[in-house]
Amino acid sequence: MKRTALESLLTAAAPVDGPLYLCMTSDGVPSDLRDPMTLGYFHPDADLAFRDWLDFQGRWAGRGVAVYLDDEALHREATELAGDDAELRHALYRDRLVSLAVHEIAHVHEGEHGDALPDTPDEAVRVRGLLAAACSIRQSKRTPWIQHGPWWIRACLHVAHRVERLTGRRVPLSLCLHTDHYGLSSPWQYSGALADEVEQLAHLPLAEVRQQPMPEQFLELWRADLASYYQANPEKLKPDMEARAA
Ligand SMILES: [Zn+2]
Repeated sequence: MKRTALESLLTAAAPVDGPLYLCMTSDGVPSDLRDPMTLGYFHPDADLAFRDWLDFQGRWAGRGVAVYLDDEALHREATELAGDDAELRHALYRDRLVSLAVHEIAHVHEGEHGDALPDTPDEAVRVRGLLAAACSIRQSKRTPWIQHGPWWIRACLHVAHRVERLTGRRVPLSLCLHTDHYGLSSPWQYSGALADEVEQLAHLPLAEVRQQPMPEQFLELWRADLASYYQANPEKLKPDMEARAA
């Protein structure tokens, strides 16, 4: 799938404020903004960090949303799994790429991101330095589901549904949500707990979906996941509470 087609699909499914810039490694993302520890990332000010590079490519059209996707790694993985079965390779790559993009776009829509920074060369340099530093840090063993809480899970299920409606093709939830990796219940349990909300609210902008109360059974599932995590890892409770309060 070409970058421009994916940008159009995501913009139609879950529009963001301003242009959406998918920063894919196959387009030559600068080395300081590549994160070897992750396949994708979103940061509210990443577009400023990528500004020079986007400008050089003739793509910069003002402040918007930039999402980093390591499509080269996904391509390598698909090739490794499918060998010379070109059809399978193509299907694996496409499903992984769309799912990764849905995962990241859900981060855009999970909550408010504060005031936009000014679009100035100095600010772009500063933000790029911060993001490059973040890309070079090896994450310590932190609580796995932090940054992948109920607001994000809910946004992810909504974005996946909207993409499916547009393409007529299933978006594999396990590839979007990775709940096993985060030590949470399965995507199907979360999807079931949300019941038919993704259909009922499909006409609403995602910012308005956020205003709607979460279904009680969805919250119950989340609370049960937290309880079992802290039961198994009681030493994490205090530092996590302190980090949340900070
Ligand atoms: Zn994530």
